[in-house]
Amino acid sequence: MTALPTSALPATEAEAAAELATLAERIAYHNARYHTDDAPEISDAEYDALVRRNTAIEAAFPASVRADSPSRSVGAAPAGHLSKVAHAKPMMSLDNAFSDEEVEEFVGRVRRFLKLADDAPVALTAEPKIDGLSCSLRYEDGRLVQALTRGDGQVGEDVTANVRTIADIPQQLAGEPPYPAVFEIRGEVYMAKADFAALNARLLADAEQTGKEARQFANPRNAAAGSLRQKDAGITAERTLRFLAHGWGEASTVPAETQSAIVDQFRAWGFAVADAFARVEDERGALGIYRAIEAGRAELPFDIDGVVYKVDRLDWQARLGQVARAPRWAIAHKFPAERAQTTLNAIDIQVGRTGALTPVARLDPVTVGGVVVTNATLHNFDEIERLGVRVGDRVLVQRAGDVIPQIVESLTAAEDRPAYVFDRLCPECGSAAEREEGEVVYRCTGGLICPAQRVERLIHFTSRHA
Ligand SMILES: [Zn+2]
Repeated sequence: MTALPTSALPATEAEAAAELATLAERIAYHNARYHTDDAPEISDAEYDALVRRNTAIEAAFPASVRADSPSRSVGAAPAGHLSKVAHAKPMMSLDNAFSDEEVEEFVGRVRRFLKLADDAPVALTAEPKIDGLSCSLRYEDGRLVQALTRGDGQVGEDVTANVRTIADIPQQLAGEPPYPAVFEIRGEVYMAKADFAALNARLLADAEQTGKEARQFANPRNAAAGSLRQKDAGITAERTLRFLAHGWGEASTVPAETQSAIVDQFRAWGFAVADAFARVEDERGALGIYRAIEAGRAELPFDIDGVVYKVDRLDWQARLGQVARAPRWAIAHKFPAERAQTTLNAIDIQVGRTGALTPVARLDPVTVGGVVVTNATLHNFDEIERLGVRVGDRVLVQRAGDVIPQIVESLTAAEDRPAYVFDRLCPECGSAAEREEGEVVYRCTGGLICPAQRVERLIHFTSRHA
């Protein structure tokens, strides 16, 4: 992970093209970690910064926009064992706003597009943006017939059998018929924070019993994605997944004239909708909802990363349409990443069961976004060098969602202090640590001498011959 470019825009077309090429590669890489592997390496805020940098350069240098530009696709193409099905209507992504001014600019664009007066009220809906996995649920004559993940927005993965195990998702719409011949409900499959913690505890306990390596999830979003995208729907059924409805795809009829009325219809059909969902008269009302949701964020039972605003009138939504991959009538107002300062007390090295050495920062306890943080990941030894952090430094710590906290930078780089030196020895057994050509990870070469590795192998041995 290298520093995010925060400098001015490139000076020349050639520089722009070169940076766009790098950005396309990096964004594709992180898309794959996030969407395909369910194992992100950077925070959502850092990812957003990459996408914004890409957008800014493309706006300034339109001639250099690449055919494979990340602005032209959503997420990563689906991969793996689930069958692929084309969406009847593409699943779009949302543009982001990171400040009140950007929200005001969004509403200004809506007014100009609709040729409204500068002060004309534009009623909006506001709802928390839940950090889950987007799904499209197809109902025909009120019966659930198909469920697809977002995939790349055009083609999703068939998770119908998995979705049938989720209690929040009705097999048959509630309320009185007639139901639309076709109606695709769109929303987020997610895992509540408490269910996520319980699942990780169970995975760890199972691993200790069987001697297999524990595969815990980094955050609730990954847990939800990993639980839903199972070939065996029986595994999905053992995980507590939930669903919140927020939109729709193909529909033979739309039984409402406003976004807020259709959300009422979702409730009547038996879907959960975000408690904080609200209709407001204008952008000032929307920003008020944003503040209220942000203030209560830590107490919510699930992770959110912002607030979504939509133009309430559906006839206006239809006129506004979409540009590239995102609708013009909606925007996601993201929360800033939560940060705090603290002191780096020590850098410990953890030895994994495969001998991989991972440096971990030990911190003076500090509250970041309502959670006390005492450790932060340093990923690998190159990362320590890149950050230039030394034991005793004041550091800036960042936490986004439930991603493991990270050190952003040293705040005392100018102070005289010895640099961190990695002695290339395993702290468990003293054997040499080596890394393969082109690898980032150092591994202990001690094998069975190394207690960290021996414990694991013995468990394997005894369990196999028990
Ligand atoms: Zn060792």
